[in-house]
Amino acid sequence: MQVFGLIGNPVGHSVSPPMHEAAYEACGMDARYVTFEPEPGSIDRVMDGADALGIAGLNVTIPFKQDVAAAVETDPLAERIGAVNTVAFDDGPTGHNTDAAGVVRALEYHGVALSGQAVVIGAGGAGRAAAFALADAGMDVHIANRTVERAETLAAAVPGAGFGGLDELEPALSDADLLVNATSVGMESNETPVPKAALHADLAVLDAVYAPLRTRLLTDAAEVGATTVKGAWMLLFQGVEAFEIWTGRDAPVDAMNEALRNAL
Ligand code: NAP
Repeated sequence: MQVFGLIGNPVGHSVSPPMHEAAYEACGMDARYVTFEPEPGSIDRVMDGADALGIAGLNVTIPFKQDVAAAVETDPLAERIGAVNTVAFDDGPTGHNTDAAGVVRALEYHGVALSGQAVVIGAGGAGRAAAFALADAGMDVHIANRTVERAETLAAAVPGAGFGGLDELEPALSDADLLVNATSVGMESNETPVPKAALHADLAVLDAVYAPLRTRLLTDAAEVGATTVKGAWMLLFQGVEAFEIWTGRDAPVDAMNEALRNAL
Protein backbone atom coordinates (compact mmCIF):
# COMPACT_ATOMS: atom_id res chain seq x y z
CA MET A 1 0.00 0.00 0.00
CA GLN A 2 1.24 3.52 -0.81
CA VAL A 3 0.91 6.21 1.85
CA PHE A 4 0.45 9.86 0.99
CA GLY A 5 -0.35 12.62 3.41
CA LEU A 6 -0.57 16.21 4.54
CA ILE A 7 1.51 18.01 7.15
CA GLY A 8 0.25 21.22 8.71
CA ASN A 9 -1.11 22.60 11.92
CA PRO A 10 -4.04 22.43 12.17
CA VAL A 11 -5.09 19.88 9.53
CA GLY A 12 -8.24 18.56 11.19
CA HIS A 13 -10.65 20.17 8.74
CA SER A 14 -8.64 19.51 5.58
CA VAL A 15 -10.58 18.38 2.54
CA SER A 16 -7.47 16.88 0.93
CA PRO A 17 -7.94 13.33 2.31
CA PRO A 18 -11.31 12.68 0.62
CA MET A 19 -10.19 14.44 -2.57
CA HIS A 20 -7.02 12.33 -2.92
CA GLU A 21 -8.58 9.07 -1.76
CA ALA A 22 -11.29 9.52 -4.42
CA ALA A 23 -8.47 9.68 -6.97
CA TYR A 24 -6.88 6.45 -5.65
CA GLU A 25 -10.22 4.68 -5.80
CA ALA A 26 -10.97 5.93 -9.32
CA CYS A 27 -7.53 4.72 -10.47
CA GLY A 28 -7.70 1.40 -8.61
CA MET A 29 -4.66 2.32 -6.49
CA ASP A 30 -3.93 0.63 -3.17
CA ALA A 31 -3.18 3.88 -1.35
CA ARG A 32 -4.20 5.99 1.63
CA TYR A 33 -3.92 9.73 2.42
CA VAL A 34 -3.38 10.64 6.07
CA THR A 35 -2.88 13.88 8.00
CA PHE A 36 -0.04 14.75 10.38
CA GLU A 37 0.44 17.70 12.78
CA PRO A 38 4.17 17.84 13.51
CA GLU A 39 5.66 20.17 16.11
CA PRO A 40 7.04 23.54 14.94
CA GLY A 41 10.78 23.28 14.28
CA SER A 42 10.66 19.56 13.46
CA ILE A 43 10.58 19.72 9.66
CA ASP A 44 14.07 18.30 9.01
CA ARG A 45 13.23 15.24 11.09
CA VAL A 46 9.78 14.98 9.47
CA MET A 47 11.30 14.91 5.98
CA ASP A 48 13.94 12.34 6.94
CA GLY A 49 11.37 10.21 8.74
CA ALA A 50 8.88 10.31 5.90
CA ASP A 51 11.62 9.37 3.43
CA ALA A 52 12.82 6.51 5.65
CA LEU A 53 9.29 5.20 6.10
CA GLY A 54 8.68 5.12 2.37
CA ILE A 55 5.94 7.77 2.36
CA ALA A 56 5.10 8.27 -1.32
CA GLY A 57 4.20 11.96 -1.17
CA LEU A 58 3.30 14.76 1.22
CA ASN A 59 1.30 17.92 0.86
CA VAL A 60 2.33 20.82 3.06
CA THR A 61 0.11 23.55 4.47
CA ILE A 62 0.26 26.39 7.00
CA PRO A 63 2.59 26.95 8.85
CA PHE A 64 5.21 24.71 7.20
CA LYS A 65 5.38 25.75 3.51
CA GLN A 66 8.44 28.00 3.94
CA ASP A 67 10.14 25.62 6.41
CA VAL A 68 9.87 22.73 3.95
CA ALA A 69 11.22 24.92 1.12
CA ALA A 70 14.30 25.51 3.26
CA ALA A 71 14.64 21.85 4.29
CA VAL A 72 14.50 19.99 0.94
CA GLU A 73 15.73 20.26 -2.64
CA THR A 74 13.15 22.27 -4.59
CA ASP A 75 12.22 22.54 -8.23
CA PRO A 76 13.02 25.96 -9.79
CA LEU A 77 9.47 27.32 -9.47
CA ALA A 78 9.13 26.39 -5.79
CA GLU A 79 12.56 27.88 -5.23
CA ARG A 80 11.46 31.20 -6.72
CA ILE A 81 8.15 31.18 -4.81
CA GLY A 82 9.97 30.26 -1.61
CA ALA A 83 7.23 27.88 -0.53
CA VAL A 84 6.57 24.17 -0.99
CA ASN A 85 3.13 22.59 -0.80
CA THR A 86 3.99 19.20 -2.35
CA VAL A 87 6.91 16.88 -1.63
CA ALA A 88 7.76 13.83 -3.75
CA PHE A 89 10.05 11.15 -2.34
CA ASP A 90 11.20 9.35 -5.50
CA ASP A 91 14.87 10.07 -5.03
CA GLY A 92 15.09 11.85 -1.68
CA PRO A 93 12.53 14.56 -0.89
CA THR A 94 11.91 17.12 -3.67
CA GLY A 95 9.71 20.16 -3.08
CA HIS A 96 7.20 21.55 -5.56
CA ASN A 97 4.62 24.34 -5.47
CA THR A 98 1.34 23.24 -7.04
CA ASP A 99 -0.58 26.34 -5.89
CA ALA A 100 0.94 28.03 -8.96
CA ALA A 101 -0.43 25.34 -11.29
CA GLY A 102 -3.68 25.49 -9.33
CA VAL A 103 -4.13 29.12 -10.35
CA VAL A 104 -3.25 28.53 -14.01
CA ARG A 105 -5.23 25.31 -14.45
CA ALA A 106 -8.33 26.71 -12.68
CA LEU A 107 -8.32 29.70 -15.04
CA GLU A 108 -7.66 27.60 -18.15
CA TYR A 109 -10.44 25.18 -17.15
CA HIS A 110 -12.83 28.15 -17.23
CA GLY A 111 -11.57 29.41 -20.57
CA VAL A 112 -9.86 32.50 -19.14
CA ALA A 113 -7.12 33.70 -21.50
CA LEU A 114 -3.78 34.14 -19.74
CA SER A 115 -2.83 37.29 -21.60
CA GLY A 116 -2.95 41.00 -20.85
CA GLN A 117 -2.84 42.48 -17.37
CA ALA A 118 -3.29 40.65 -14.09
CA VAL A 119 -3.74 42.21 -10.67
CA VAL A 120 -2.78 39.93 -7.78
CA ILE A 121 -3.89 41.06 -4.34
CA GLY A 122 -1.78 39.54 -1.58
CA ALA A 123 1.93 38.88 -1.20
CA GLY A 124 1.87 35.85 1.11
CA GLY A 125 2.27 32.26 -0.06
CA ALA A 126 -0.75 32.22 -2.37
CA GLY A 127 0.07 35.68 -3.75
CA ARG A 128 3.65 34.67 -4.52
CA ALA A 129 2.48 31.51 -6.28
CA ALA A 130 -0.11 33.43 -8.33
CA ALA A 131 2.26 36.24 -9.28
CA PHE A 132 5.02 33.93 -10.56
CA ALA A 133 2.54 31.63 -12.32
CA LEU A 134 0.80 34.43 -14.19
CA ALA A 135 4.04 36.18 -15.13
CA ASP A 136 5.45 32.87 -16.41
CA ALA A 137 2.25 32.44 -18.44
CA GLY A 138 3.02 35.78 -20.14
CA MET A 139 0.79 38.22 -18.25
CA ASP A 140 1.79 41.68 -17.04
CA VAL A 141 1.41 41.41 -13.29
CA HIS A 142 0.61 44.12 -10.76
CA ILE A 143 0.87 43.10 -7.11
CA ALA A 144 -1.22 44.95 -4.54
CA ASN A 145 -0.84 44.28 -0.84
CA ARG A 146 -1.90 45.79 2.48
CA THR A 147 1.78 45.91 3.50
CA VAL A 148 3.21 47.67 0.45
CA GLU A 149 6.81 46.67 1.25
CA ARG A 150 5.90 42.98 0.80
CA ALA A 151 4.37 43.78 -2.61
CA GLU A 152 7.53 45.69 -3.54
CA THR A 153 9.79 42.79 -2.52
CA LEU A 154 7.71 40.30 -4.49
CA ALA A 155 7.48 42.58 -7.55
CA ALA A 156 11.28 42.84 -7.60
CA ALA A 157 11.47 39.05 -8.08
CA VAL A 158 8.62 38.64 -10.61
CA PRO A 159 9.63 39.59 -14.18
CA GLY A 160 8.07 42.90 -15.26
CA ALA A 161 5.81 43.19 -12.23
CA GLY A 162 4.54 46.44 -10.73
CA PHE A 163 3.27 46.94 -7.21
CA GLY A 164 1.16 49.16 -4.99
CA GLY A 165 -1.09 49.34 -1.98
CA LEU A 166 -4.72 48.32 -1.69
CA ASP A 167 -5.71 52.01 -1.85
CA GLU A 168 -4.43 52.10 -5.46
CA LEU A 169 -6.55 49.19 -6.64
CA GLU A 170 -9.10 51.15 -8.71
CA PRO A 171 -6.62 52.59 -11.25
CA ALA A 172 -4.73 49.28 -11.39
CA LEU A 173 -7.94 47.39 -12.16
CA SER A 174 -9.39 49.78 -14.74
CA ASP A 175 -7.41 48.23 -17.62
CA ALA A 176 -6.90 44.79 -16.07
CA ASP A 177 -8.07 41.52 -17.63
CA LEU A 178 -7.68 39.36 -14.53
CA LEU A 179 -7.94 39.82 -10.77
CA VAL A 180 -6.73 37.19 -8.30
CA ASN A 181 -7.53 37.64 -4.63
CA ALA A 182 -4.76 35.88 -2.73
CA THR A 183 -5.42 37.57 0.60
CA SER A 184 -7.37 35.85 3.34
CA VAL A 185 -10.00 38.60 3.27
CA GLY A 186 -13.42 37.00 2.78
CA MET A 187 -12.44 33.72 4.46
CA GLU A 188 -15.41 32.71 6.65
CA SER A 189 -16.70 36.30 6.40
CA ASN A 190 -18.69 38.61 4.17
CA GLU A 191 -15.77 41.00 3.65
CA THR A 192 -14.16 41.83 0.32
CA PRO A 193 -10.71 43.27 -0.38
CA VAL A 194 -11.93 45.13 -3.50
CA PRO A 195 -14.56 47.89 -3.73
CA LYS A 196 -17.34 46.78 -6.08
CA ALA A 197 -16.92 50.03 -8.04
CA ALA A 198 -13.43 48.88 -9.12
CA LEU A 199 -14.80 45.73 -10.80
CA HIS A 200 -15.99 45.64 -14.40
CA ALA A 201 -17.43 43.28 -17.00
CA ASP A 202 -14.14 42.76 -18.89
CA LEU A 203 -12.51 41.23 -15.85
CA ALA A 204 -12.08 37.59 -14.87
CA VAL A 205 -11.92 37.18 -11.09
CA LEU A 206 -10.37 34.22 -9.26
CA ASP A 207 -10.77 34.25 -5.48
CA ALA A 208 -8.29 31.91 -3.75
CA VAL A 209 -10.61 31.96 -0.72
CA TYR A 210 -12.82 28.86 -0.89
CA ALA A 211 -14.93 29.16 2.28
CA PRO A 212 -17.55 30.33 1.63
CA LEU A 213 -17.62 28.84 -1.85
CA ARG A 214 -19.08 32.04 -3.29
CA THR A 215 -17.38 34.95 -1.57
CA ARG A 216 -18.66 38.51 -1.54
CA LEU A 217 -15.93 39.41 -4.04
CA LEU A 218 -17.23 36.78 -6.47
CA THR A 219 -20.84 37.87 -5.90
CA ASP A 220 -19.92 41.50 -6.59
CA ALA A 221 -17.90 40.45 -9.66
CA ALA A 222 -20.78 38.40 -11.08
CA GLU A 223 -23.15 41.32 -10.53
CA VAL A 224 -21.04 43.62 -12.71
CA GLY A 225 -20.81 40.95 -15.43
CA ALA A 226 -17.27 39.70 -14.75
CA THR A 227 -16.26 36.06 -15.27
CA THR A 228 -15.85 34.37 -11.88
CA VAL A 229 -13.75 31.39 -10.79
CA LYS A 230 -14.18 30.02 -7.28
CA GLY A 231 -11.22 29.20 -5.03
CA ALA A 232 -12.42 25.60 -4.86
CA TRP A 233 -11.18 25.19 -8.46
CA MET A 234 -7.70 26.33 -7.43
CA LEU A 235 -7.86 23.92 -4.51
CA LEU A 236 -8.90 21.12 -6.86
CA PHE A 237 -6.17 21.75 -9.40
CA GLN A 238 -3.36 22.12 -6.84
CA GLY A 239 -4.40 18.62 -5.72
CA VAL A 240 -4.65 17.37 -9.29
CA GLU A 241 -1.15 18.64 -10.01
CA ALA A 242 0.21 17.01 -6.82
CA PHE A 243 -1.38 13.68 -7.75
CA GLU A 244 0.20 13.89 -11.21
CA ILE A 245 3.66 14.70 -9.79
CA TRP A 246 3.44 11.77 -7.36
CA THR A 247 2.03 9.17 -9.74
CA GLY A 248 3.15 10.29 -13.21
CA ARG A 249 -0.37 9.69 -14.53
CA ASP A 250 -3.30 11.93 -15.44
CA ALA A 251 -5.50 12.66 -12.43
CA PRO A 252 -9.17 11.63 -12.42
CA VAL A 253 -10.30 15.25 -12.21
CA ASP A 254 -14.05 14.59 -12.11
CA ALA A 255 -13.79 12.10 -9.25
CA MET A 256 -11.55 14.45 -7.26
CA ASN A 257 -13.89 17.37 -7.94
CA GLU A 258 -16.95 15.45 -6.80
CA ALA A 259 -15.25 14.36 -3.56
CA LEU A 260 -14.01 17.90 -2.93
CA ARG A 261 -17.49 19.38 -3.47
CA ASN A 262 -18.97 16.86 -1.03
CA ALA A 263 -16.32 17.72 1.57
CA LEU A 264 -16.46 21.53 1.33
P1 NAP B 1 -0.52 34.29 4.04
O1 NAP B 1 0.81 33.84 3.53
O2 NAP B 1 -0.75 34.40 5.51
O3 NAP B 1 -0.82 35.72 3.36
C1 NAP B 1 -1.97 36.43 3.73
C2 NAP B 1 -2.16 37.62 2.79
O4 NAP B 1 -3.43 38.23 3.11
C3 NAP B 1 -1.11 38.71 2.94
O5 NAP B 1 -0.88 39.31 1.68
C4 NAP B 1 -1.79 39.68 3.90
O6 NAP B 1 -1.34 41.01 3.78
C5 NAP B 1 -3.21 39.60 3.41
N1 NAP B 1 -4.18 40.01 4.43
C6 NAP B 1 -4.49 39.35 5.57
N2 NAP B 1 -5.44 40.02 6.24
C7 NAP B 1 -5.73 41.13 5.51
C8 NAP B 1 -6.62 42.21 5.69
N3 NAP B 1 -7.43 42.29 6.75
N4 NAP B 1 -6.68 43.16 4.73
C9 NAP B 1 -5.86 43.08 3.65
N5 NAP B 1 -4.99 42.09 3.43
C10 NAP B 1 -4.92 41.13 4.35
O7 NAP B 1 -1.68 33.35 3.51
P2 NAP B 1 -1.70 32.48 2.14
O8 NAP B 1 -1.19 31.13 2.41
O9 NAP B 1 -1.11 33.30 1.06
O10 NAP B 1 -3.28 32.34 1.92
C11 NAP B 1 -4.07 33.45 1.54
C12 NAP B 1 -5.50 32.96 1.25
O11 NAP B 1 -5.48 32.09 0.13
C13 NAP B 1 -6.11 32.15 2.40
O12 NAP B 1 -7.48 32.48 2.52
C14 NAP B 1 -5.92 30.71 1.94
O13 NAP B 1 -6.92 29.84 2.48
C15 NAP B 1 -6.10 30.86 0.45
N6 NAP B 1 -5.44 29.79 -0.32
C16 NAP B 1 -6.22 29.09 -1.16
C17 NAP B 1 -5.66 28.09 -1.92
C18 NAP B 1 -6.53 27.32 -2.87
O14 NAP B 1 -6.09 26.28 -3.36
N7 NAP B 1 -7.75 27.79 -3.16
C19 NAP B 1 -4.29 27.80 -1.83
C20 NAP B 1 -3.51 28.56 -0.95
C21 NAP B 1 -4.10 29.56 -0.18
P3 NAP B 1 -0.08 41.54 4.64
O15 NAP B 1 1.16 41.11 3.87
O16 NAP B 1 -0.26 43.00 4.69
O17 NAP B 1 -0.15 40.87 5.99
